[in-house]
This record gives sequence, C-alpha cells and structure tokens, in this order.
Amino acid sequence: MEATKPINLHDFYSRMVASARSFTELYDAMEGWAEVVLEENPILECQNGCARCCMHQVLVSDAEWDLIHAWMRDNLDKTKRRQIIGRIETQLEEPGNPLSRWLGMRNKHPRAFVRSVNQGFRSELTRCAMLGLDNRCEIYPVRPFVCRAYGRARMGGGNAMICEVFAGRFRQEGRNSDDIHLEEMTVLSPKYFELGQSKDGSAGLYTVMAAHVLRNRTSSGDLVKQPQSLLAETTFPVVTQDDFPIGN
Ligand code: SF4
Repeated sequence: MEATKPINLHDFYSRMVASARSFTELYDAMEGWAEVVLEENPILECQNGCARCCMHQVLVSDAEWDLIHAWMRDNLDKTKRRQIIGRIETQLEEPGNPLSRWLGMRNKHPRAFVRSVNQGFRSELTRCAMLGLDNRCEIYPVRPFVCRAYGRARMGGGNAMICEVFAGRFRQEGRNSDDIHLEEMTVLSPKYFELGQSKDGSAGLYTVMAAHVLRNRTSSGDLVKQPQSLLAETTFPVVTQDDFPIGN
C-alpha cells in the first residue's frame, strides 16, 4: 500500500490565506497557522499579562475598521466604548506621547507618517487604546491583521517579527530566529491589501486605529452607529498600500 504523504501545515494554511474572500476567512487561516507556529516553537509563547507589543498605535484599513466598529457596537457597552475613546483623548494631551504629533502630520507626507509609526514601535511607547487596564485586548476577536501577524510571521526581507522578549529568549538559548519556520508576510500581505481594497476596487485606505476611533465618536463621547469611511478624511493622515515599506 502506498504511504500517505503527511500534510505540510504551513502549505495548507498558505493556501487557506490565498483563497480567503473576507477578513474573517483570512483571520481564521492566520489563527490556524499561528497555532502551528507556536506548537513548533514553544519559545514564542507569550507571557501571561505581557502586552509589550500593544504599546503601539497600529495601522488599520477602512475594511478592518468596519469589522472592529460593528463588533464594538455589538459587544462593548457604552461605558466601555467611552473609556476607550477617553483613553485616546487623554493620550492626545500627554506631553511626550507621539500620537498627537503623528496625527498632526495630516496628509502631507504619507510615507513619513507610516515610517514614523512603524519606527515608533521600537522607540516611542504609546499604549494602544484597545488595551485594557488588565493588559488584555478589549477587541481581541476582531483585533487587526498586524496584531495577528506579530510574533508569528517573517518579513519579506527575512527578519522574524519578534519582540525584545522573544529575541532575549533566543539569545539565552544560543539560537537564531532565522532558523524557525514562521508565517510568511509575502503570503499574508498581498491578501491583506487585496481584501483592504475599497468596494470599487481602488486601493484601500489606512490610518492608525486611534484616528479611526476619534473620527467615529459622537459629541457625547460614544461611537457613531455607522462607521465613517476614510474617503472623505481631511484632518487625519490617510495612506494607501503604496505608502507601506516594500516587503511589508
Ligand atoms: S488591538 Fe489589541 S492586540 Fe492589537 S495592539 Fe491593540 S490591544 Fe494589542
């Protein structure tokens, strides 16, 4: 009898990503893939209560924001939604918090905006407003693409997207993060940008999640009922796929 060839789970989830027709399908595939990565590499297990990778403002597409917005309206009560909005308003007033500087860049230099936000991940701490006081993500079931890829994927250029905690563990064990089999951004990103396209097929629009929240708040400090597209945005920075670094 012919031996059955074992399924290569990395290939399997790569195909699932490639065939995803919605963010929900993409996220499901990434979830399965991340489990395989973790099972193969217990060194990548997050410490309970660690939220180092959430000390950041994440870039989120209009399409992802629609999902997050709907989920927040359906699953968080008004008090919680107001708390999240209030955290962002407080951050804007905090001296040294880069959020107001980044939002003040408007649309003059979209690539510089993306670069500042991305580089800020290493150098400027600014807590994601979706992170609760208990260091848990308050929108976990609909957290954005980048939050799902971080710590589980490798950039197009080859570098593993891992935090200082993981990097420290590799050093301690005398291992190299180049040697582990991770999810591939070269597979994930094209699908991410494809699904982020506007309904008319034009390039998707992106800004930091804090800006999505701010432009979707009511005068009473809650979230509006229907999400506002970035198409008409004139105050906050809005970027497209072309403004992201190559190999994202
Ligand atoms: S959305 Fe959630 S997982 Fe992503 S950075 Fe914010 S708190 Fe962390």
